[in-house]
Formats: sequence, structure tokens, C-alpha cells
Amino acid sequence: MTDVIIIGGGASGMLAALTAAESGHSVLLLERQSRVGRKLLATGNGRCNLTNYHAAPDRYHGEDGTFCAHALQEFDVGATLQYFASLGLLTVSEDSGRVYPMSNMAGSVLDVLRYALERPGIEVRTGQVVTAVKPAAEGFAVKTETDAFAARRVILAAGGGAGSKVGGVMDGYRLAKALGHHRTVLYPSLVQLKTDPTYPRALKGIKAECGITVRRGSDVVAENRGEVLFTEYGVSGPAIFDISRAVSTGGEGLICQLNFFPDWERREVLDWLRLRRQTMGAHEASTLLTGSCHTRLGQMLCKAAGFTNQRAADLTDGDLERIARQTQRFALPITGTCGFDQAQVTAGGLRTDEFDPQTLESRLVPGFYACGEVLDVDGDCGGFNLQWAWSSGHLAGQLL
Ligand SMILES: Cc1cc2nc3c(=O)[nH]c(=O)nc-3n(C[C@H](O)[C@H](O)[C@H](O)COP(=O)(O)OP(=O)(O)OC[C@H]3O[C@@H](n4cnc5c(N)ncnc54)[C@H](O)[C@@H]3O)c2cc1C
Repeated sequence: MTDVIIIGGGASGMLAALTAAESGHSVLLLERQSRVGRKLLATGNGRCNLTNYHAAPDRYHGEDGTFCAHALQEFDVGATLQYFASLGLLTVSEDSGRVYPMSNMAGSVLDVLRYALERPGIEVRTGQVVTAVKPAAEGFAVKTETDAFAARRVILAAGGGAGSKVGGVMDGYRLAKALGHHRTVLYPSLVQLKTDPTYPRALKGIKAECGITVRRGSDVVAENRGEVLFTEYGVSGPAIFDISRAVSTGGEGLICQLNFFPDWERREVLDWLRLRRQTMGAHEASTLLTGSCHTRLGQMLCKAAGFTNQRAADLTDGDLERIARQTQRFALPITGTCGFDQAQVTAGGLRTDEFDPQTLESRLVPGFYACGEVLDVDGDCGGFNLQWAWSSGHLAGQLL
């Protein structure tokens, strides 16, 4: 009988398989798709942002914010990079702490893992959709659509529903539920926001560095700063992804406010607009912001304030105040987020109080482990989710 069956050949499942084999266990890795690590190839826009030097529990979310701490400490960023280097992967890092393969190809990360899996003690079976896991007289019986297998222990590494176009499915939650486990509510996270499309559609493709505030009335629900990309249906970009969790879980009636002059006091913006009124007096009001932000965005902000064809010289101080307000509190009513197909990660998952954070073994079913995104742990944008996959896969794979 195989020592351990691992369900899912994604990031966490591959790390769990390698760790288990390195500890002397025989491993059967079952993957539903025709090849392992398909989602990995899509990560980081094809570059794979495989970790982040700032990975620490405060960059992760879930009902128990401390659940991830032991795994992250036990196989931290340094240990992870050393491990990948031992497999042959060279990496580079950015000032933000994000780490990428030196080749700039996600395929490099997958390839070193695939070659490492070709070792005695690991059998990889692809095209195997696991449909049931049941405790047996000894160990577990694992059924797939076509075969039946047995193992002393099982590690569930089936991922979450996010990224359904690259293989994200809900199977993991169903398999664990049949064993008595529970999950929290699931939300798409690290995903684009849908807003009233009128302005975003007109600004489609434009990127701007902004302060971002999500509000309900006067309450601030989330804040961030960074690059925002206007899209057909709303706003996108890493800074938006990071607040998308708060929007997904935040209910209705939210507004996204963008500040295109985040380092300026309102008084400074007004002084600047007065100066522009003097120099651009003979031109249309919509040209006032030319030179200070993307031309189309500048025109749109003046239009949103109610000014287009008037002569700039005819604008009153009150009019300039309205334009200044648009540059710093440009409000887009939020209608929701895009769905799991567009999301990078699932917020929510298997309840972590039903697993031991020191081992990732189930507290309900001895010998059953879970790692990666299927658990109620999700990270910020920037390599944090893959670090959780590596760390939790490494911990589960030790079969402690
Ligand atoms: C487009 C995109 C870009 C991303 N970019 C980044 C990034 O740059 N940096 C970062 O840190 N994170 C990124 N992420 C998130 C990251 O990829 C995931 O959090 C991570 O892959 C989760 O690892 P996992 O092993 O838990 O799940 P997965 O990698 O999803 O692996 C789960 C595996 O289980 C298999 N499986 C599921 N059900 C069954 C079953 N019934 N039987 C057999 N096999 C099954 C699946 O086919 C899959 O291969 C991105 C995600 C997406 C969608």
C-alpha cells in the first residue's frame, strides 16, 4: 500500500509530494488535469511571482489569522528559495519584495518541480479526477472516475475555485465535506472590481497611480495606493486586487474613490488649477489638467466636474474647487467584483479550527491532511499565495 496519496498536482501538492518522498515515504500524486501545475503557468502574468520577502502572517487572511504562522515559519522565504535553488531555479527580486524566476518564465518554476518529481518513490498519475476519499480498515480508499487506490494517509491539495479557466474547481471542499469537514463562505479575491462602467469604459486601457479608498457613506472599508487600470467594466491592477477581498466580503453600497494627486493637499491642487487657469485661459476648460495626468483622464475629470467647452478663463474659484474635488475624490459606485473565473485566489475555505496548524493534519479524521488554497487562508497580491502553497505543502508533506 502507498504511504500517501496526494490529491492535486498544483503548487502545494507538488511540494508535499517532494517533501514526503524526501522523508522516505512512497507517494502517489493524483491530478485531474492532463498535466501537473497548469495554474502555475498562468501565475504572475506568465512570469510566476513565486514568493515575497515580506511573507508574514499579517499578509494573510482567514477566520484564524494566526493559523498560517507555523507553516510560514517552518519553511520560510529563505528556505523556499534555497529549496528551489537546489532544484536549479535561479531567481531575481524586486524592491517590492516580489521574487520571480530569473528566466521570467513561469514554465521554469514548473519545469524544475516536474523534473524533481521524476524520482524513485513518487508516482504521478494525471487525468485522475478524485471523486471520493473514505477511511478504510487500514488507511484510506481513494476513488477516481476510473480507478481505485489505497494509502495509509491522504493529503488534500486540490486548491480552490479561483482561476477556473486554469483548473480551479470546488472538488476539494466536497471531498473534505464528505469526511465531516466544514468550510467558510467562499469569495473571489485578488480580482477586478466592477463599477458603474460609464467613466472606466471611456478610460479603458489607461493606467494611473492613485490613492484608493473604498467607502460606505463616511466609513472607510479599505484603503490602498498604487497603479489602477481602467477596464471595460471597472478597475483593475495589483492595488485594486489587494482591496478586492474587502469589497467581496463587504456587502452592498460601496464606493471606490480615486485620488489622482495623493501627495497633494486640496489647497495645493487649487493653487495649481488657478495657475493653469491663467496660462490656459484662452483654451477649453477640459485642457486644465493637460500635463498633470493622462490627457483623456484629465478631460474626463473636468467633464465629471461639469466643464468641457467653457473657456478656462471663465471658470470661477468655485468651479476650480469642483474640478479639484474630482481629481482627489473621483467616485465610482461599486457593483461587485468579477467572479471566480477571473480571481487569483479564493477567500475562505476549509475551516482551519478543524486542522492542527503544527502538522496540517485533520482534527476530525486522523491521517487526513490539507494544504494550500483549499484551506481558509488567502494572501495579499504579490507572491504571498504561492508562498503559502509551498510552506503548507512542505509542512503537510512531512506527515508529522
Ligand atoms: C491567473 C492567476 C495568477 C496567479 N498569480 C499568482 C502569483 O503570481 N503569485 C502568487 O503567489 N499566487 C498567484 N496566484 C495564486 C496561486 O496560483 C494559488 O494560490 C496557488 O496555485 C494555490 O496552490 P494549490 O496547490 O493550493 O492549488 P492549485 O495550484 O490550484 O492546485 C490544485 C490542483 O488540484 C487539482 N485538483 C483539483 N481537484 C482535483 C480532483 N478532484 N482530483 C485530482 N486533482 C484535483 C487541480 O487540477 C490543480 O492542479 C495566481 C492565480 C491565478 C488563477
